[in-house]
Amino acid sequence: DALKDRFEKIFGTLRGKGRLSEEDVNLALREVRRALLEADVHYKVVKDLTDRIRERATGQDVLASITPAQQVLTIVFEELVAVMGSEPKPLTISPKPPTVYLMAGLQGSGKTTSTVKIASRLKGSHKPLVVACDLQRPAAVEQLRVLAEKAGVAFYGPQAGQTDPVQVARGSLKYAEDHLADLILLDTAGRLQIDEALMEELVRIKEAVPPQEVLLVVDAMTGQEAVTVAESFHAKLGLTGVVLTKLDGDARGGAALAIGAATGAPVKLAGMGEKIEDLEVFDARRMGQRILGMGDVVGLVERVQQVTSQQDVERLTESLKKNRFTLEDMLLQLQQIQKMGPLEKVLEMLPIPGASKMAQGADLDPKRIKHTEAIILSMTPRERRSPEIIKGARRRRIALGSGTSVQMVNQVLHQYEQMKDLMKAFGKGGRKGFRMPGGG
Ligand code: GDP
Repeated sequence: DALKDRFEKIFGTLRGKGRLSEEDVNLALREVRRALLEADVHYKVVKDLTDRIRERATGQDVLASITPAQQVLTIVFEELVAVMGSEPKPLTISPKPPTVYLMAGLQGSGKTTSTVKIASRLKGSHKPLVVACDLQRPAAVEQLRVLAEKAGVAFYGPQAGQTDPVQVARGSLKYAEDHLADLILLDTAGRLQIDEALMEELVRIKEAVPPQEVLLVVDAMTGQEAVTVAESFHAKLGLTGVVLTKLDGDARGGAALAIGAATGAPVKLAGMGEKIEDLEVFDARRMGQRILGMGDVVGLVERVQQVTSQQDVERLTESLKKNRFTLEDMLLQLQQIQKMGPLEKVLEMLPIPGASKMAQGADLDPKRIKHTEAIILSMTPRERRSPEIIKGARRRRIALGSGTSVQMVNQVLHQYEQMKDLMKAFGKGGRKGFRMPGGG
């Protein structure tokens, strides 16, 4: 069963209970622990995570309108995403060219493939040069050369008689300068296991050609082993990021969590197949869903839908359809936002373009919401429905009536205009079943 379903079973009977008791939470956490271990998350990481989740969940008020299962699941999900980094972490470019990326990883992790994938991806904005610094296996140099040619990126390999990868790395700097390449990707040797000699070689390369990024390539199938690997590489090289490969397979991807927790180095990219274009920016939310076996964010969307009464939803949907979003609708939304608690958090998770922007635009400070409410309530019904008639004198009267200032009235009207525009945009999209955040 997916974790979500297991949760529903455990919590099915808890609806309407006042608070999540420690017992309830422990029950849920047992399932979380099992699901995470099954997803190959390292037990130490699992322990830290469940401790944090327990702390956050225990004693929380059970929200009337959603199931405790969803409530705990939301917390679990947020914590997972937090460990992996909720924002995408792009590869950085050195202010002074050339930018050097040092690619490291065990043999078979997908290092060579990923090197060419990254080069190919950045071809549009840079002139990349891939460099064969893996002189352990004769076939490795040839493999990189062939892949580079296929991808249409420049290649540099060992010159006659060269046996030291440091020489090759240094040589590539000169070559890049001569050929106007501004991005150098060093494909280094891997071993089947971590060993001293390999690490020393990498450290020497790093010292000779200081890289902008040190990227560890990790096979997602590695599971728990990934932590040990990442920690060793991190200790010696100082990783700036991780490329997690073979996520197209059935690995649940616990490695992403484990590495994030163990090294703090963010997973930046995800390998999604053998082809050169199969590389994606790593998405922590999607990964969180995968680890939890959620498949989609239905549970979270439901959460938003359920806190909103059907009647309100219909009213707002109606205004949306008619392209008529009034100040009354805005008031309704704000009141619901207040009921929902930490809405920003929920909004951020929704796969709705603009949802998190709307959360920012809505200004969710409770005091501000109170003022906004007072201002809208001080308007006449006609003003609320036709805000364009609210000119100078009316603004002064509304400010006086609500105990605020003209400036604040202006702000509310401005905010209203912004929300109206957003609503219009959503309305045009015509998303079936889409409910406005806070308003359904
Ligand atoms: P290296 O030894 O670390 O340089 O690994 P390679 O780049 O040679 O990759 C090892 C194998 O994994 C090759 O057969 C690649 O095609 C395959 N591979 C690399 N990345 C991915 C990926 O994201 N998905 C899949 N399915 N295979 C991959």
